[in-house]
Amino acid sequence: PAIELDGVVKEYTAHGEVVRAVKGVSLSIAQGEFFSMLGPSGCGKTTTMRMIAGFEEPSRGTVRLHGQDVTDVPPNRRDVNMVFQSYALFPHMNVWENVAFGLRRKRVPEEEIKRRVGEMLEIVDLAGREKRRPRQMSGGQQQRVALARALVNNPRALLLDEPLGALDLKLRQAMQMELKRIQREVGITFVYVTHDQNEALTMSDRIAVMNDGLVEQLAGPREIYERPATTFVAGFIGTSNLLSGTAAEVSGGTAVLRVGDGQRVLVPVDGGTREGGTVEVTVRPEKIRITHDEPGSDVSAVRGVVSEVVYLGTYNSYAVNLASGAEFTVFEQNARDSSITAERGQTVWLSWQPQHSY
Ligand code: ADP
Ligand code: MG
Repeated sequence: PAIELDGVVKEYTAHGEVVRAVKGVSLSIAQGEFFSMLGPSGCGKTTTMRMIAGFEEPSRGTVRLHGQDVTDVPPNRRDVNMVFQSYALFPHMNVWENVAFGLRRKRVPEEEIKRRVGEMLEIVDLAGREKRRPRQMSGGQQQRVALARALVNNPRALLLDEPLGALDLKLRQAMQMELKRIQREVGITFVYVTHDQNEALTMSDRIAVMNDGLVEQLAGPREIYERPATTFVAGFIGTSNLLSGTAAEVSGGTAVLRVGDGQRVLVPVDGGTREGGTVEVTVRPEKIRITHDEPGSDVSAVRGVVSEVVYLGTYNSYAVNLASGAEFTVFEQNARDSSITAERGQTVWLSWQPQHSY
């Protein structure tokens, strides 16, 4: 592995009080992986990143880079580079000079500087803009200069802390694609910090979802979305519908929740669930079918009243109030005829396959 954290804890003392920013993180990042740390503001992402870079020393635990314990090694002697949200470019230098700066300081021969800076500007698509100053460039271009400056030193890993946070949505989406392409092209490990779930889902090989100083789930984007390990992850990633009820029957790994006349929710459960126990179920809006007719008995089915219908182009979004008091969101793909299945105020059935709830 390129990066390993083992039981890493970081405590700060502020005004005589101990703040536990990171409460025990262990993870392993493979060479060449695009790895993201995703979580709400204040969950400890930046602190974790700064411990990998060496700007912060862990209170406990170890950091290993490429198999070597670097817990006590200063940042400039670690084979990683960091890119920040504020690009921190030198305003009085042009693009070329900004990118060449680190190599000049390391007294790399001028011929090699020329070659490496040229190559790097090619990769970040800024060839021909060498003479521009930072303030003559857009936010996206400045971020690409910052990226080139970090990559030109050939670090074995690049750490990026919310690098697109200052860009507007359209540019951010374009840059997400760019970053992915650049990472593939240079083939080095990227560790990417973001609070934006779409960003993490789009770009990452694997994601560590963090909450309150801990990793709640570490998996690929698809698994995190389809099989969130905790209620926190389910709530943080995408839109979820949550329902709880009493297990009326448990057999063959499935619990049946009775939620009213003719309605039932079939939930896959582990061995620990007993009849009479409380079960929480989560189901994604796009997994639910909305119908007027009662669905077959092999699927989960609940009834509710449509309180809102929103036409969103490629799909329709419904808000449905269930008799239990829960409000469900349902997404319906817009077919060729763009017909809307149900109107506001109508009573409808919502149904989904048992394997789509968790
Ligand atoms: P994130 O990057 O996920 O938003 P941070 O790692 O910046 O989170 O912060 C995690 C927690 O640690 C927050 O509660 C923050 O206030 C606290 N924290 C971060 N840096 C310091 C510091 N230097 N001194 C005291 N508390 C800090
Ligand atoms: Mg942060």
